[in-house]
Amino acid sequence: VIDSHCHLADPAFATDLEAVIRRARAAGVEQALIVLEAGDGLQASQARQIALAWPTAGFAIGVHPHQAHLFADRPGRAADLVREQMMTTPDTWAVGEIGLDYHYDVSPRDAQRAVFREQVRLARDLGRPVVIHTREADQDTLAILTEEGHGRLSGVFHCFAGSAQLARAGLDLGFYLSAAGIATFPKATDLRATLANVPPDRLLTETDSPFLAPVPHRGKRNEPAWVARVVDALAALHGVSADQMAARTAENFRAVFAPASR
Ligand SMILES: [Zn+2]
Ligand SMILES: [Zn+2]
Repeated sequence: VIDSHCHLADPAFATDLEAVIRRARAAGVEQALIVLEAGDGLQASQARQIALAWPTAGFAIGVHPHQAHLFADRPGRAADLVREQMMTTPDTWAVGEIGLDYHYDVSPRDAQRAVFREQVRLARDLGRPVVIHTREADQDTLAILTEEGHGRLSGVFHCFAGSAQLARAGLDLGFYLSAAGIATFPKATDLRATLANVPPDRLLTETDSPFLAPVPHRGKRNEPAWVARVVDALAALHGVSADQMAARTAENFRAVFAPASR
């Protein structure tokens, strides 16, 4: 199984990082993509520990929409920062997480759009996939990916919790959809119906840990070992065994993050 999106460099894991990684590996998590916030020195140093303790893990680096306000005057600086940090961080496979969050609106929307656009351009120039965070911003997210991607951009809608229409549009763009613990929540019946209709060769699995722990761990600090609960949920939706879904989603992960992840 694969955890295609986790924040292991978050301070929430500072005191027991090695135990968390040990549990993940013991639970059969073969690979993980660790998401780093560009310019965060504490995360960068924790990332060096992760790289030593988990050699098959890789990294994504980006400016999250919540941080876009820091670059409101010079959005190009966000992409420059990500580029610089990608150069100096081994095993960086993707630009992310980047996108738009109109639910929390932590940053002004025009700053979010400008910073997102610059980073999509960077990913396209580098030939790297993008990890997309989008919330209540479907139209603008799709517009920027379409305008800047020129059909040469690949990537993932992480923690997918959107509508069937957004799923369709994402698949039409050639993107993958990553399911998280939300898919196990009792009330998420619409989301499960949407995920049941996504072709299995476009699905990924993630924890988004330390957030969004799946049932039966809900409310606790999430960790990569628990991604198996998400695999189980997708397997049930698609009428296949957990092993089959694990193999399928692992293959998809390597397809989207290849060749960097091999
Ligand atoms: Zn996110
Ligand atoms: Zn995240």
